[in-house]
Amino acid sequence: MEVWDGANGSRISFDWSSNLLPGGSSQTIATMTENANLIKGLLSRIESLGDEVSVFSSTTVAAIENGVDHVDGPDLSAWPVLSLSPAASTMTGERGALPKIAARLLVGADGINSPVRSFAGISTDGWDYNRHGVVATLELSPAGSSSLSKPVTAYQRFLPGIGGPIAMLPLPGDYATLVWSTTVQNAAYLKSLDPEAFTAMVNAAFRLSMTDLKYMFTLPSSTSDASNQHGEELSWRLNHTAPESSLPPTVGGVHPRTIASFPLRHRHASTYISPRIALVGDAAHVIHPLGGLGLNLGIADVASLHGTIEYAVLHGMDVGDLLSLERYASERWIPNAKIGAGCDFLHKLYNVPGNGPVAWARGFGLDTVNRFPAVKDLLMKVASGS
Ligand SMILES: Cc1cc2nc3c(=O)[nH]c(=O)nc-3n(C[C@H](O)[C@H](O)[C@H](O)COP(=O)(O)OP(=O)(O)OC[C@H]3O[C@@H](n4cnc5c(N)ncnc54)[C@H](O)[C@@H]3O)c2cc1C
Repeated sequence: MEVWDGANGSRISFDWSSNLLPGGSSQTIATMTENANLIKGLLSRIESLGDEVSVFSSTTVAAIENGVDHVDGPDLSAWPVLSLSPAASTMTGERGALPKIAARLLVGADGINSPVRSFAGISTDGWDYNRHGVVATLELSPAGSSSLSKPVTAYQRFLPGIGGPIAMLPLPGDYATLVWSTTVQNAAYLKSLDPEAFTAMVNAAFRLSMTDLKYMFTLPSSTSDASNQHGEELSWRLNHTAPESSLPPTVGGVHPRTIASFPLRHRHASTYISPRIALVGDAAHVIHPLGGLGLNLGIADVASLHGTIEYAVLHGMDVGDLLSLERYASERWIPNAKIGAGCDFLHKLYNVPGNGPVAWARGFGLDTVNRFPAVKDLLMKVASGS
């Protein structure tokens, strides 16, 4: 992975292939998996469990309430009970009545606006970054493209004064994923461009100086003729730009209809548990995407909660009891808070424009870490979750 500062050129390179496993084989620092493929894999694993698991697809949780104390049955007054309804997009056909579900343990994996978290009355702290993350699937020019059989590299360039970093993450074949964190205005501008102009802006963001890149954002987003003004401006400016080492492959195009943007926010729930409730993933914490760690933290939550439930079951404990769940909250809250704070710190550090003392300290820090393989190994181990 190559990470560098667009303002002063300071750089850090991570190369996991230098770390050989005991048998002599090399390791990768991370594997890129598209969310759609991950979900498909998880669904087929659930399917393989057969009748052990009931799946309610195209269904929404319409309400969560406390159950009632049945005179002739169990006391469910402290249990969350879910009312299901067909998702709005699937309301056309006739469907049988959906059951109500009383949960011994309700796991809220329901995102930033978690209805489960609201039901449990768990508060969150946080702020909006006033930035958007622009994402797209990029088509790489064949000469510089990656392939499944070759080791591949991720690239992230911080763009002080432009709003945030741009990252290109390798995908199989001649594709890569783009995540460009930038101001709301810049994000709207990028989304208004035609594919050729968008492609030119991505290449510009990895290659041009901050002054030249800012100028590119002032070009009209649409022209009446078919000229590629952004492409021409980029070519001209590149002729007057000193080439940098270890640049990403040139982007040749953008995959149709893949450009989108998401508001960037920081949130952290005050706790991840309450009686019969556990929160995981974005329901519990939302962080800046510059480390590409949001979903990874959610997966680590799930692994920890799995261990917690297993322990409770093996020791005859009630899995929804607060005492059983405390182990999960104590394992995950502090690590998630540290990573969230680290990403927030980097966001703020790399938003200071110009060549003042902060930029100097930033460059000195990055260049220094780059000279210490032991520190880089430690950072790679943290990033890879090992
Ligand atoms: C621009 C950007 C780039 C990112 N890049 C990366 C990256 O490279 N790597 C990484 O690890 N992370 C990345 N992340 C973070 C990652 O996308 C999130 O952390 C992850 O998607 C959170 O998953 P989740 O399942 O917890 O929540 P969500 O993905 O929000 O899923 C919640 C689900 O709950 C469902 N739901 C909500 N309410 C109800 C209801 N009432 N009934 C039924 N269903 C309901 C929703 O429909 C949704 O499907 C990025 C984020 C952004 C914004």
